Amino acid sequence: MSEVQILASVQQFMARQHGHFIDGQTIPAETSERIELINPATEQVVSTIAIATQNEVEKAVQSAYEAFHHAWANTPPYERGLKLNKLADLVEQHAEELAQLETLTTGKLINLARHLEVAQTIVFLRYFAGWATKIHGQTMQPSIPSMNGEKYTAYTLRQPVGVVAGIVPWNFSLMIGCWKIGSALTTGCTIVLKPSEFTTLSLLRLAELAIEAGIPAGVINVVTGKGETGQYLMNSPLVKKVSFTGSVPTGIAIGQQAMKNDLTRVSLELGGKNAAAILADANLDEILPTLLQATFVHQGQVCAAPERFFVHQSKYDEFTQKATAALQQFTMGSPLDEASMFGPLSNKPHFEKVKHYLDIANQKDQVICGGQTIQGTGYFVEPTLLKVQGTDDPLFIEETFGPVVDVIAFESDEELIRMINHSRFGLTASIWSNDLAKALRLIPQIEAGSVWVNMHTFLDPAVPFGGVKASGLGREFSDAFIDDYTELKSVMIRY
Ligand code: NDP
Repeated sequence: MSEVQILASVQQFMARQHGHFIDGQTIPAETSERIELINPATEQVVSTIAIATQNEVEKAVQSAYEAFHHAWANTPPYERGLKLNKLADLVEQHAEELAQLETLTTGKLINLARHLEVAQTIVFLRYFAGWATKIHGQTMQPSIPSMNGEKYTAYTLRQPVGVVAGIVPWNFSLMIGCWKIGSALTTGCTIVLKPSEFTTLSLLRLAELAIEAGIPAGVINVVTGKGETGQYLMNSPLVKKVSFTGSVPTGIAIGQQAMKNDLTRVSLELGGKNAAAILADANLDEILPTLLQATFVHQGQVCAAPERFFVHQSKYDEFTQKATAALQQFTMGSPLDEASMFGPLSNKPHFEKVKHYLDIANQKDQVICGGQTIQGTGYFVEPTLLKVQGTDDPLFIEETFGPVVDVIAFESDEELIRMINHSRFGLTASIWSNDLAKALRLIPQIEAGSVWVNMHTFLDPAVPFGGVKASGLGREFSDAFIDDYTELKSVMIRY
């Protein structure tokens, strides 16, 4: 085993007594209570973070409010774009540092942290930077009757909503945090971020880079802590929009609270029990490497990744044999070792949750391959394929958010669609086939925010992303985010 050398800058950052990032600087915490950040591969404490009080959260929101009114909303769009691009440049310059911080706190393979998390963070920031100069209203010609020759014209303005609360999960903190930063800053909003208690460091570091990029103090703030900190944040009366990514139960509670808080705008990117449909004509040797990579990336801790494989009856046995053989080749090891293909789960509570599902599957003899946790140090589990006992089986219904996938046989297209849609979730789905006519007929029938053909789990800033049913509310990326971060003001003029 050969692990990458931890940079001195990473060691120094982890050794700091972190506070909150408010009004352009690190503010020491008001209380002494700390949360330990654990490396999930070694179970060792790598750093600690503070728990924000309501007072600290209010200070952060106040700072974002002042920066919105006195700096950012009035900054010319071109300049906003330049500064977001400069932030992207700095992320690029500090790529290895940010990747190592992510790997040390999430167990993400170092190559995934480098080539997906950090690389895509840069792509998304530059994409959002480009939008700054392209957000506009429209002109309209009203049809109001004219009695005395008077005329009318009308136009719309798009104005930033104000202070945004960005609540971020632990699986891709830097990238998901930057989806929220990019959307907010390009439209002229300011933001207070609440990263997950498990993976806080990369966003604290990013906030410092934002100051180096010339983004004014107060435009990006970061408060750290647990769920309660997120609650203080979303309940602040100065917060005009909540952008939340996380689990369905928390998302629903946040959505309900946002409505009670005088209809605070809210967008929710939540969980999924995503389907991959492998049709009768699929060439398994061709599709399996791509399908398995898309499924087990980051140990399956990806909201968009499949958790249910629907395989045509004629291919079921071949599929389970070949998929099992391929998964047995996954080399499990330290996420800091560039040769590892599979790392640990990101934190202990999540490991316990996945273990609970594996225990049920083992008790009921439902394991096709894998199914074990690895004895010893670290939160490692095997990549797992399961049989299910019908569509009411909890393993068919509940999101595991881990490397645990059901394999279900189907005979007809009707049965396939019925089973895919038998879920409270509707985030993503994919169809694996060269029969394009059949795929085009199936796509409209699938209840999901995104459907891929011969691919899965790919997010691109140019393509809208979000869920239907309990998987979410609203869309990110493309031009779809603009509605969520701006108010549309209508102006009518009589002359
Ligand atoms: P959680 O819902 O547990 O937490 C998400 C964030 O919300 C964390 O920062 C958490 O803080 C915070 N939080 C928890 N409780 C509250 C509360 N009552 N009020 C305000 N904030 C709160 O999700 P996870 O972090 O466990 O993430 C995994 C889930 O996220 C999975 O279900 C996954 O599918 C989903 N997800 C969805 C994505 C999408 O784009 N659709 C992308 C990525 C993940 P803390 O962690 O400190 O408790």
